Amino acid sequence: MKTKPCASCKQEHTTLYRIQLVKGKIWIFVCEACCLAAKSNPHYRYGGTWQGYRH
Ligand SMILES: [Zn+2]
Repeated sequence: MKTKPCASCKQEHTTLYRIQLVKGKIWIFVCEACCLAAKSNPHYRYGGTWQGYRH
């Protein structure tokens, strides 16, 4: 199973969410907890889910 580090808490996760927190800027991958915390950001945009056990 593959993992990726969360861009916010830096922990390795098998499921990450592709989100945008600054309008027009790059997409970042964050874990579920950080994704939920980011939803209060006015520029929050969801762009898909990355899963380490799917290819
Ligand atoms: Zn995180």
